[in-house]
Amino acid sequence: MNYDLIIIGSGIAGLTSSIYAACSGLKVLCIENQTCGGQIVNTSDIINYPGFKNISGLDFSQKLQSQAVELGVDIKTEQISQLNLEQKNKIIVTDNCEYNAKAVIIATGTRRRELGCNGEESFRGRGVTYCATCDGRFFQNKVVGIVGGGNTAVDDAIYLSNICKHVYVIHRRDGFRASGRSVELMKQRENITLKLNSVVDSIEGNNLMDNVILSDTHTNEKTSLKLNGLFVAIGSIPNSKDFSKWVDLDEQGYIVASEDCTTKTSGVFVAGDVRTKKVRQLVTAASDGSIAALAAAEYINHEN
Ligand code: NAP
Repeated sequence: MNYDLIIIGSGIAGLTSSIYAACSGLKVLCIENQTCGGQIVNTSDIINYPGFKNISGLDFSQKLQSQAVELGVDIKTEQISQLNLEQKNKIIVTDNCEYNAKAVIIATGTRRRELGCNGEESFRGRGVTYCATCDGRFFQNKVVGIVGGGNTAVDDAIYLSNICKHVYVIHRRDGFRASGRSVELMKQRENITLKLNSVVDSIEGNNLMDNVILSDTHTNEKTSLKLNGLFVAIGSIPNSKDFSKWVDLDEQGYIVASEDCTTKTSGVFVAGDVRTKKVRQLVTAASDGSIAALAAAEYINHEN
């Protein structure tokens, strides 16, 4: 089947791309290998997207999806088995069909790095969370932990210390990857306690989590810590490796592109969290989606 533009990924970046591309008169296919909507469907409340005071991630992505479909976008859930993006005619083979397109937008996002410890899966959404900005307010005056030593963990610890009664920062080393300024600010907070050289061994509780077992990375000694919530902030993994033949990846695997969303391959664009960038938020993913779609439309009009 032939399309003008194929968008790989149907998170906010992909769906926004599809809306802009359809508005530009392109015949658009959006291919997703999981649930349409991307990671945001797991977020209970979005409170920082302009124009929405409070909306669930699922409602938000369903609104985007129906907007795209009403504009004529085809959305398919299929597994991609083969790609060839080098030539002018881009070929995408899935478990169902072979598709051809004049341009492709990669909007595959990231997946969160997980702890992989006992209890993480069973207490996910019942105390274990991966987004302080999204879920912090549910832990008002509670005692929480945050795992990680990067900028996300340290910034989120400071953010949570304004909401929660006490915040424990659990980090596997005694040095922080986060900027010195942020670490200093964190250390000044009286309601933040550092648990260094510690990893989470397991998460315990009944209906909700209420305890974690920490393991000392030097001595292996196990200690128990009562917590109402555990924020996991140990980085993200970009979904980019299938595209490495046609795009440059940075050392963490993000697809290298500047604000114009173009890559080293003509007709291949990238949008959203999978792109190299500083701020990964819904609104920046949407912004990328529009930029990549308009760039793709311009490319198609000039090159074809
Ligand atoms: P990150 O910089 O990759 O840090 C991840 C942290 O998690 C590291 O401290 C790492 O420990 C730890 N970690 C990784 N795997 C772990 C595991 N399996 N168990 C326990 N701990 C583990 O990720 P990030 O903090 O999300 O930041 C991502 C990027 O966004 C960075 O470039 C960051 O600078 C940027 N960012 C910037 C800002 C800002 O400028 N304000 C805010 C947020 C994020 P080790 O240190 O021991 O490796």
